[in-house]
Amino acid sequence: AKEAGKNCYLHFRPQMLAELLARTQLTAGLRRAVELGQIMVHYQPVVSTELLEVVQFEALARWQFEGKLIPPDEFIRIAERSGLIRDIGAEVLRRSCAELQPWLAEDPARTLAVNVSGVQLLHRDFAERVLDIAACGDVDPHQLVLEVTESVFFDPRSHVIAQLEGLRAAGVRVALDDFGTGYSSLGRLQELPVDIVKIDKSFVSLLHTGAEKLPILTSMIHMARSLGLKVTAEGIETPEQAHYLIAHGCDALQGFLFSRPEPDDRRELGIRHTAAA
Ligand code: C2E
Ligand code: CA
Ligand code: CA
Ligand code: CA
Repeated sequence: AKEAGKNCYLHFRPQMLAELLARTQLTAGLRRAVELGQIMVHYQPVVSTELLEVVQFEALARWQFEGKLIPPDEFIRIAERSGLIRDIGAEVLRRSCAELQPWLAEDPARTLAVNVSGVQLLHRDFAERVLDIAACGDVDPHQLVLEVTESVFFDPRSHVIAQLEGLRAAGVRVALDDFGTGYSSLGRLQELPVDIVKIDKSFVSLLHTGAEKLPILTSMIHMARSLGLKVTAEGIETPEQAHYLIAHGCDALQGFLFSRPEPDDRRELGIRHTAAA
């Protein structure tokens, strides 16, 4: 016991205290930002390879804390741990419905994609809340896409999947984000309640390095398509990547080549009309 006590003491380095304080401050700052309505949304276009036009915008949360933008990967993790993700998710959906409603209303084929954390799906009223927010914002559920990562499908709690099934029954589509980075990937794809797969940008970047993993990329696309799923590729930065992905059957493309994520007032100005043509 004495040894263990000594180890605990020794392992608590000053750096850990600094990290703990930083995280506590970030959590408090994030809570405040949520209360004050300071979580912003940027939009990145998704281009149809068939129509060569923007058919979707993905909503990406933005938070500025003490003058600098905190990367979403970082604050979403904090939000998940602290439970704030529920309010942030609702706010991103509410705001993006409000901001994109006029654009969506122009064409029923247009969609809004919103990222959803597995933690949000643990709430049994998640599906109901999503549909409520869409209805309040006058957005048709058929124009909504929820992006989830594979890990949500590993959750043994049946109500998690039931949420997604309920939403799909109401017309909402589910996209499998970061496809190819998980464990089950190809084999289990058939069983998952998804409509769209998003090929992760780490695979798209292989197109630069000319790697031997390319057959994995092409078989992911072919497998998804043979199951009747739509395929979007993300992280496209070069015309070469766009051409390759179009040639191999991707339905839609997203990446800095077309536009970076932009606030609503710069959303359509940011789109470069170079790429796929
Ligand atoms: P994600 O959903 O996989 O989003 C794609 C990320 O790739 C975004 O980073 C986007 O800005 C970036 N990206 C897009 N095109 C390119 C490109 O051509 N090259 C490169 N290098 N990157 C590109 P971002 O906005 O920093 O978001 C990071 C992650 O944070 C997202 O990954 C998503 O997992 C999470 N996230 C963002 N907003 C939300 C949200 O509202 N809710 C939840 N639950 N997660 C969110
Ligand atoms: Ca996403
Ligand atoms: Ca992704
Ligand atoms: Ca991601």
